[in-house]
Amino acid sequence: MRKILNYIDGKLTPAKSGVFFEKDNPSRGAPYLLVPDSEAADASAAVSAATAAFESWAKTPIAQRAGHLRKMATLIRQKEEALAIAESTDNGKPIALARALDIPRSSLNLEFYADAISQFHGETILTDARAINNVVNAPLGPVVCISPWNLPLYLLTWKIAPALAAGNTVIAKPSEVTPLTAYLLSEIAIEAGLPPGVLNILHGTGPKAAAPLVTDSKVRAVSFTGSTATGRAISQSVAGQFKKVSLEMGGKNPNIIFADADFDKALDHAARAAFSNQGQICLCGSRIFVERPIYAKVKEALVSRAKALRSGDPLDPSTDQGAVVSRVHMEKILSCFEVARSEGGKFLCGGERLKMSGDQAEGFFIAPTLIEGLSADCRTNQEEIFGPVATLIPFDSEQEVLQAANSTRYGLSASLWTRDLNRAYRVANAIDAGVVWINTWMLRDLRTPFGGMKESGVGREGGMYSLRFFTEPKNICMGL
Ligand code: NAD
Repeated sequence: MRKILNYIDGKLTPAKSGVFFEKDNPSRGAPYLLVPDSEAADASAAVSAATAAFESWAKTPIAQRAGHLRKMATLIRQKEEALAIAESTDNGKPIALARALDIPRSSLNLEFYADAISQFHGETILTDARAINNVVNAPLGPVVCISPWNLPLYLLTWKIAPALAAGNTVIAKPSEVTPLTAYLLSEIAIEAGLPPGVLNILHGTGPKAAAPLVTDSKVRAVSFTGSTATGRAISQSVAGQFKKVSLEMGGKNPNIIFADADFDKALDHAARAAFSNQGQICLCGSRIFVERPIYAKVKEALVSRAKALRSGDPLDPSTDQGAVVSRVHMEKILSCFEVARSEGGKFLCGGERLKMSGDQAEGFFIAPTLIEGLSADCRTNQEEIFGPVATLIPFDSEQEVLQAANSTRYGLSASLWTRDLNRAYRVANAIDAGVVWINTWMLRDLRTPFGGMKESGVGREGGMYSLRFFTEPKNICMGL
């Protein structure tokens, strides 16, 4: 079985204990990878390496730091196909998606921050004729970047790129559920000649490997993307340490279709928003609110879209739906179906594990699922499921749909579909979400702020927002 290793102080090493755990290939339902089971001693070694490397990296000229990021981006591009195969195998996602989204975006993240750092500067504030205030953006020191399994290399690079560009050193903890491309990134960092200790990648479980990183007193900031439950645990564990914390967490995003919407466009996007990456994108529109006059038409068309999706081998370029990421996650989704049934939900399609044949016979496949007949306040419509499942909910008025859309504890994103410009803006303003899309979905400009309200997030990533998070404004005041 293939083994991956930690990347600490420029070297690839096993965990100090020498223990590895097995990780499944989700489309085969069987172990295929051995992952270092790192713990506190490994976390401490990674923090020491990052601490030692900080002084020199923080003083490295911006153009040189950017040069390292660009070199890594170029190597990702050169290895695009191998990385797409690795991501698809490790996560279960269709290779078409890994080729179109995950891997290109990973190199773009590095390039974007290699450029952005050259535009990031402090300011000078004159206090009458008495003083000059020089506000500089100082890097923080060693920082921890913790990422989830749904967009593994994409979200890992989205964090480490601004952190490194701003002059911090990084200890990254990728998800133990999808660690392969993070390991390949450590090989790329070595090939790119990144100085030892500047980037460290620690593998292992959250409680054993990541928790000691987060609370280490030398770590100056934690940037986390993952579930709200883990975000809460991190927030509580560092509450007394006063370090910077950015939390990007779960969502239960509304997709609101008014009767005057461009029907075909709204439908295309609703299907994508429900089922892309097997519904495992934090931005997925899992609650589809449809204005009553077009409810029956939308329902019929969406069900036929869902039934037409081809589930199969993630490495087959014609596959639309791959496997969900793990056995544990598949079982969680199936248990959510039981909850929906007990709440009186009517399954329009799906609602079960898909039995595949051949190599995929034991794979973690779930049929694309649409459910109707549930109230907006039931568990199914309030809790994040994070699978290929969406609910359909008819509505009669703007006020009713706004109340329902805002009724969850989450506030990550929302989409709405209408040709009425006034209504579009009115509804967008009234929705509690960090990102609201009007007549589109998941259109991302990397310069814009990204993050959630309520229990979906604290802080914003993206563009200069990430660079501000990874630096501390320091005012140097000189009397005249
Ligand atoms: P998770 O919270 O289980 O794990 C995320 C990461 O946290 C992993 O690397 C894990 O090892 C680590 N972790 C676990 N316990 C920890 C602890 N006690 N201390 C420190 N780190 C710990 O999330 P997941 O299941 O990997 O990802 C799915 C979730 O991520 C969903 O809720 C989804 O909505 C969310 N997500 C949010 C965004 C966003 O930008 N808001 C993006 C993608 C995914």
